[in-house]
Amino acid sequence: MQNELPSAAIRRRGLMLVISSPSGAGKSTIARNLLESDQGFQLSVSVTTRPRRPSEIDGVHYHFRTKREFDLLRDNDALLEWAEVHGNFYATPREPAEEAMAAGRDMLFDIDWQGAQQLREKMRGDIVSIFILPPSMRELKSRLTRRAEDNADVIEARLKNARVEIEHWREYDYVVVNDDLDRAFHAVEAIVRAERLRRDRRPGLFEFVSGLLDEKI
Ligand code: ADP
Ligand code: 5GP
Repeated sequence: MQNELPSAAIRRRGLMLVISSPSGAGKSTIARNLLESDQGFQLSVSVTTRPRRPSEIDGVHYHFRTKREFDLLRDNDALLEWAEVHGNFYATPREPAEEAMAAGRDMLFDIDWQGAQQLREKMRGDIVSIFILPPSMRELKSRLTRRAEDNADVIEARLKNARVEIEHWREYDYVVVNDDLDRAFHAVEAIVRAERLRRDRRPGLFEFVSGLLDEKI
């Protein structure tokens, strides 16, 4: 019986939080807010062949690599999942994610639907996934334009791709519409709080309950 296992033998498994959305819906903003407000999360820094945006730092936002370097990592099984998105390659490095999970630390993945599918196959019980929707396609376009980090062709390609991405919304555990940023962020916080309270993420409960039952009254 599971509740007869010594509590030390039961390790908390890390929460693997996957956030996806069409480009411009606000997932990076929400992810950044979560990382700032919640010290329990570590960001999975992806590898990409996409050119660096002016505001991005290599090793912080992404590990920027050439296609040749990317292929080498993939061939050496150093990538947990990988996908082609908007004509560039993106991937989750294997080692940091596996280390976090083994140590019971929570990790945040800002990846697309293809990556989310691959992680669900590999880490089914550990993945909690959230899909962020824009309030309208018009607002999505205006956010991409206001962000002003991509040229007009890139924005057009991302808008086209948004429809493909949105079609995968049903594969996610939770869906949050990012109309008002504060409201959307609080919804994500509430999801995280509830998921951390799940019985199977709280091995300490075994000890607590057995203490309760042993208590002499
Ligand atoms: P993604 O990571 O999904 O591509 P970003 O987080 O980069 O999107 O957000 C795209 C742009 O929209 C950014 O300029 C961001 O500041 C802005 N933004 C995010 N959420 C909102 C919101 N709720 N209302 C208005 N602008 C937003
Ligand atoms: P961007 O170029 O705007 O930073 O990201 C483009 C898309 O690639 C986003 O949907 C983002 O979530 C996705 N992405 C970023 N990193 C990864 C990754 O490691 N794997 C996968 N599959 N997608 C990623």
